[in-house]
Amino acid sequence: MNRAFFLLLTCPLWAQRIQWDQQKTEILKHYRDLIQIDSRAGNETKAVDYIKKVLEGEGIPCRIFAQDPARANLVARIKGNGSKKPLLILAHTDVVGVQPEKWPVGPFSAIIKDGYVWGRGSLDDKPVLTANIMVMLLLKRNHIALDRDVIFLAESGEEADTTGVGINFMVSQHYDEIDAEYSLTEGGNGTIEGGKVVAMNIGTAEKVPARVRLVATGTSGHGSVPRIDNALIHLGAAVEKVGRWQTPMRLNDTTRTYFEKLASMSSPEKAARYNALLNPRTSDAAQRYLQEHEPQAYSMLRTSVVPTRLKAGVGDNVIPSEAEATLDIRALPDEDIAKFYAEMGRIIGDPQIKIVPLPATRPPSPASRLDTEMYRVLEQVSKKMYPGVTVLPSMSTGSSDKAQLRAKGQQSYGFGPAGTREDFTNYGAHSDVERLAEPSIYPFVEFVWNAVNQIATH
Ligand SMILES: [Zn+2]
Repeated sequence: MNRAFFLLLTCPLWAQRIQWDQQKTEILKHYRDLIQIDSRAGNETKAVDYIKKVLEGEGIPCRIFAQDPARANLVARIKGNGSKKPLLILAHTDVVGVQPEKWPVGPFSAIIKDGYVWGRGSLDDKPVLTANIMVMLLLKRNHIALDRDVIFLAESGEEADTTGVGINFMVSQHYDEIDAEYSLTEGGNGTIEGGKVVAMNIGTAEKVPARVRLVATGTSGHGSVPRIDNALIHLGAAVEKVGRWQTPMRLNDTTRTYFEKLASMSSPEKAARYNALLNPRTSDAAQRYLQEHEPQAYSMLRTSVVPTRLKAGVGDNVIPSEAEATLDIRALPDEDIAKFYAEMGRIIGDPQIKIVPLPATRPPSPASRLDTEMYRVLEQVSKKMYPGVTVLPSMSTGSSDKAQLRAKGQQSYGFGPAGTREDFTNYGAHSDVERLAEPSIYPFVEFVWNAVNQIATH
């Protein structure tokens, strides 16, 4: 059989359309251009203007939705035949702040040095933004026939959405524009070891912020006269109790699979520890080990309670009538939070302490499922591009704009480019200095393209 014909029969059509080597110049240009746009909160429209020019320049119409003109959101849609519900690909345009004196290069220079592209947003979130732009351009140029609409969203205010200009605005005012069965965005990454991608983290769930204030009250008075009901003493005791409280461990589909797969790719010693978590007889000791040595993993096992602030006192010789502490509580996606607060009250066991919930920053959001076509596609694409890779569904201990989308019923998944552990630790998202190895951006765009094509074409 003619080899070309054989390939045609065995490869899905999308797989052979793109010559990836020929896309590199354009990928790098958009990626660097976007980093060079200083889109810290309040300046997101600058990035939107750039994207609008690029997409409309190739005949992809864009719609702009802005609650604040300087912080616009952009939506573009490539229509499918409507036989399946839409896919949403989204990325935020805003970046966190910078301290220029900590940077060896200009924080918005996008300079390429030592094999890295340096700049704020080089990881968070301009790789995803770049990939999504490239996917739209390539879908259009290659006249790909789609079973479902592919919707592109560039959104503002993900990092500090205090006024609700980004995802909250889009979900509450323009949800019909972004309504989808599946959504893909930041919140995962690949792990490089020995020059090879060995693990792919797909974000499938995240914890829900459920912060509270602990407020202690007592009798005020002169500092020279001790009082049993001193608010500081009561608050101190309460903080100690909740700070040391071992909240119940509970696994969900994501975390159970995560620890099983993590065990399958770890050294025997580590694997034994992850497996020990799942055994009631050995779980306690394994948890204690993680608490000390892998706090991130420990947090994935439970609703966590972390004291972060104390506020009390007006003078060295004054007993204040009130003292308070803030607890940063991160709940498991299925936590019954009212019950949890009640249990915390029982642990504190002090009528002088009141638990006052702070306003919610994210809606409660269920974990996305692992048995969907979208998750299977992400797994397949990972394994095809990186033979031997372990795909890990992961639950973020932080929260993202996926929360609002999951709360609306979307199955929402996170991904990101690959890097070494050292790079993510020392030059990661929100670090003093942010960078991505230049060769990582190209296969990431290809990854997103493959995932979108596989879910949106037949
Ligand atoms: Zn981000």
